[in-house]
Amino acid sequence: MNLFEKEALVKQKAEELENASPQAILEYAIETFPNITFACSFGAEDVVLVDMLQKISPKTDIFYLDTDFHFKETYETRDKMIERYGLKFVEVKPAITPEEQAELHGPELWKSDATACCNIRKVEPLTRILSKYEAWITGIRRDQAPTRANAKKVEYDTKFGLIKFNPLASWTNEDVWNYIRENNVIYNPLHDNNYPSIGCEYCTRQIMPGEDPRAGRWSGQEKTECGLHK
Ligand code: SF4
Repeated sequence: MNLFEKEALVKQKAEELENASPQAILEYAIETFPNITFACSFGAEDVVLVDMLQKISPKTDIFYLDTDFHFKETYETRDKMIERYGLKFVEVKPAITPEEQAELHGPELWKSDATACCNIRKVEPLTRILSKYEAWITGIRRDQAPTRANAKKVEYDTKFGLIKFNPLASWTNEDVWNYIRENNVIYNPLHDNNYPSIGCEYCTRQIMPGEDPRAGRWSGQEKTECGLHK
C-alpha cells in the first residue's frame, strides 16, 4: 500500500469506525495490518487495551519503552500482567544507559533538558521499534489533554510514518475505570494514590484535589508530552 492509498484508507476508516467499539477497532486493525504493534505504558488505558488484546488476538506484539526510570510499581504491574496472561512484552531500551547519559549530558538531564532526555529515552527507542511495523495501537484519549483533543480512531502518523489506531479516543476516564472494574484488570496501584497519569519517576508527581489529571507530569515545566504523540 503506498502513502496515497494509506491516507485515503485512513480517512475513510476514521469516519466508518468513529462509533465502533474499541474491540471492533482492534479486530479491524489486526485483520487489516497483521504487522501491527501496541505501545503499552502500563497506564490505566493501556492495561485495558492489553486485556482486550488478550481476548481478541493474544499473539499481537506488545512493547513498552523501558526508560530505566519507571516507578517500581510500574515494573510490578508489568510482572503481574505477564503472570496473569502468560504474555511476553517486547522491551525497548534506550541506546545509552543512565550512567552513559549522565557522563555525556551531565546529571539529571530530566531537570536541565527534559526534551533531550525524552528524546534519548523515549523518542529514539520508539522510532527504532516502530520502523519494524506498518501500524501501531495506542491508548490515547481525546479528553486527556488539549494536545489529544483531535485524535482520530484511525489516523496516519506523519511523525513515524505508519498508521495509528486510537481505539479509546472517545472514551472518558470513567469508561476506562468501569472496564477495569468489570473485567478485574490488573492496574498500577499508583493510580489509587492520586497519580492519574504515570510516566518516569523523576517527572511524575501526585496531583492535588482539583488539579488537571496531567498536572503531575513534568510539573513546573512547559512540557506536556514526551514527543511520542504529535
Ligand atoms: S519523562 Fe523525564 S525521566 Fe523520563 S525520559 Fe522524559 S525527561 Fe527523562
